[in-house]
Amino acid sequence: MINDLLEEIGSPETIGISGHIRPDGDCVGSVLGMYAYLTNAYKDAKIKIFLDQPPAIYSYMKGYDEVDTTFAYPGQFDVFIALDSGDVERIGDAAKLFLGAKKSICIDHHVSNSGYGDVFHIEPDASSTCEILTRMFKDEYMDVEVAKALYTGIAHDTGVFRYSCTGPDTFDALSRLVKYGFDATKITDETFYQKSYVQNQLLGRTLLESIIFMDGRCIAGYVDRKAMEFYEAKPSDFEGIVNQLQMTKGVEVAIFMYEIGTLEFKVSMRSNGKVNVAEVAEYFGGGGHVRAAGCNMNGTFHDVLNNLSLHIERQLDALEEKDAQAPV
Ligand code: 5GP
Ligand code: MN
Repeated sequence: MINDLLEEIGSPETIGISGHIRPDGDCVGSVLGMYAYLTNAYKDAKIKIFLDQPPAIYSYMKGYDEVDTTFAYPGQFDVFIALDSGDVERIGDAAKLFLGAKKSICIDHHVSNSGYGDVFHIEPDASSTCEILTRMFKDEYMDVEVAKALYTGIAHDTGVFRYSCTGPDTFDALSRLVKYGFDATKITDETFYQKSYVQNQLLGRTLLESIIFMDGRCIAGYVDRKAMEFYEAKPSDFEGIVNQLQMTKGVEVAIFMYEIGTLEFKVSMRSNGKVNVAEVAEYFGGGGHVRAAGCNMNGTFHDVLNNLSLHIERQLDALEEKDAQAPV
C-alpha cells in the first residue's frame, strides 16, 4: 500500500514509467498522467516513458511525443513505476528496466495482480489505474494536463462510466478532474466512440460471422491473419468489438480473439456477471478483472473455443447447481 506517493518516490534523479503492452486508454492515461504529474513535482529529475506506440487518438496528452518505443536505456533508474499491468511480464521490454531499478513501484487495479516490485499498490475494486492515481495525486502538482490524461483512463475502463466497476469513488475522482476545465465530451467522442472506417468494417464483419453456443449463453467472434493483413489492422483497431458482442441478449460471456501468430490468438473475454472470466484467463496464463479479462492461447479458433468453453460451462453449471440447492 502506498500512503504518500511522493514520499515513496523520494528525491530521485531519474524516473522511468511504463505500462502494459498494446496500451489501452487507462494504460496511456495513467502513464502520461503520471509523467505530467511528476514533471510538475520533480523539476530537475530526468523522467522517461517506455511504452509500445500508443494510438494517435491519444496524441493530445502531454508527453505523447516523449514516449520511447525502443526500450533502450543504458543506465539504472533510481525509481521505475509500472502502471495498469497485472504482472511484470505484461510491461514487455520495460521489465528489465523495472527489475533493474534501485526502487520499483507497481500501481494497478487488476484482481489477478499478486503484487510485484519493491512497493506495490493494488486496488482491485478501483475502476481504473487512473482513478487510483487521481486519489494519490496532490493538488499542488495537478494541472489540466494531468486531469485530461486521468479522465481519459477512467472513461475508457468504465466504458464511459457505465460498467459495474463504476462506483461512488469513481465519480468523486471525476468530479475533481473536470474542475480543471477541459472538453470532456471531445475526449470521449474522439478516443472512445469514434471509429475509423476500417475499425467499423472489422466490427461489422466480426458480428456477422460470430457464433453463439452453450444455448446462447456464449458468443464468440474472431479476426484471422488474412483479414488482419487485408484491412492492415492493428491490435487497437479491435477495441470495443468484444463489448459489442457482449451486448447480445441472453449472453453471459462474450469472446473475441485475433491471430497474433500462426495458430496463436490474443483472447478477450467479457462477462455479464455470472462467470468470473479473470479465473478462466488466469488458468490459461492471462489475467484481468472478474468481468473483463484476456490471455494468449494456441490452436485453431475452434480449439481455443473448446478449451475456454469447458471452463465457462463448469462455472455456469456450478452456479446452476447452487441455485437448484438453494431453498425457495
Ligand atoms: P482486453 O480484453 O481489453 O484486452 O483486456 C481486458 C482486461 O484483461 C484488461 O484489464 C487487461 O489488462 C487484462 N488482460 C488482457 N490480456 C491479458 C493477459 O494476457 N494477461 C494479463 N495478466 N491480463 C490481461
Ligand atoms: Mn486498467
